[in-house]
Amino acid sequence: MRYTGLVDHYRSRLPFAPNVRAIALCEGRTPLIKLENLPKRLGFENDLYVKFEGLNPTGSFKDRGMTAAVTQAVHEGSRAIICASTGNTSAAAAAYAVRAGITAFVLIPEGKIALGKLAQAVVHGAVVIQVMGNFDDGMRLVKEVAQTSPVSIVNSINPFRLQGQKTAAFEIVEALGRAPDYHCLPVGNAGNITAHWIGYSEASGHDTAAHTLPAALRTYDQTAIASNRPIMVGYQAAGAAPFLRGGPVKDPETVATAIRIGDPQSWSQAWHVQKESGGWFDECTDAEILATQKLLAESEGVFCEPASAASLCGALRDIKAGKIKPGKTVVCTLTGNGLKDPDVVMKNGLTGLVQVPAERAAVEKAILNRL
Ligand SMILES: *Cc1c(COP(=O)(O)O)cnc(C)c1O
Repeated sequence: MRYTGLVDHYRSRLPFAPNVRAIALCEGRTPLIKLENLPKRLGFENDLYVKFEGLNPTGSFKDRGMTAAVTQAVHEGSRAIICASTGNTSAAAAAYAVRAGITAFVLIPEGKIALGKLAQAVVHGAVVIQVMGNFDDGMRLVKEVAQTSPVSIVNSINPFRLQGQKTAAFEIVEALGRAPDYHCLPVGNAGNITAHWIGYSEASGHDTAAHTLPAALRTYDQTAIASNRPIMVGYQAAGAAPFLRGGPVKDPETVATAIRIGDPQSWSQAWHVQKESGGWFDECTDAEILATQKLLAESEGVFCEPASAASLCGALRDIKAGKIKPGKTVVCTLTGNGLKDPDVVMKNGLTGLVQVPAERAAVEKAILNRL
């Protein structure tokens, strides 16, 4: 049967009855790419994979959550959805709203939103409301407005979001035949790290999802397909690292705009994941994040957005330090596509540009000089 998206594909493991119409764009089934050049170049012997979620239809993992959230919203008769967003949630909400024939309202922060993401919200016809504040202000306002307006919240506080996102863990278990030993993710609101833990727990027959899900949303067909669960590691940007500071950060600041969040919505769930999996949180500076984005692009041909590079950045550091044990299998989630935010790469101009007169000899010389 043609693959139509994760709601249909994993329906027996999601809280949707067979008659619920999926609002889908063939999201999911993203590649799990084994890194070959980087481990050689850095001289370590871990099997290191990246799950490239930037290849979802709107270019980030948010599509996994959005197909589930919008499917449920439409099923409940909702005519409009609303979210606060640093960019990717609004892009996904806009696209899935169009697919469903309903309206998307997206609250974005002042400035600091990647142009590609804003273009997505615009091209799909979302109502873009710019809040003179940051993401956390937008999130607070969304919660307040939804109390009185007939709109469904599709931020990750909507439990259907995490239900959709847990399927990434299913796919990894299917691809590897087991769960990895370590799973590393960038952490903003911490919904995704929570969702992955739900997925790994269900895939291995653990009932810990009960801690993070309302009873009505627990899935029933918990086919055990892995015997292990990974150690979950979350990396934050140093300027937006509430999990490292032990509480909300007032003015989060980082080049990794997708994780520029000071007051994570899944705060307690993420601490639960950390404890139960035996994992940890750490932070990466903006300079480290950008260097890793470049390193990955230059050595493996994979272009992710800055926030995504935080997972690989932290993983490489922790492998080097021996905190991630030698020989173990590591998966890093690359949450979003680098094409969303080309500005960050082009900021320094066209590095390596070679300019020549429009003559064959000049082009030949330019080539020969660089072979
Ligand atoms: C949303 C997002 C994150 C953060 O995910 P959380 O679930 O909020 O922790 C990281 N990277 C990208 C590209 C995102 O869009």
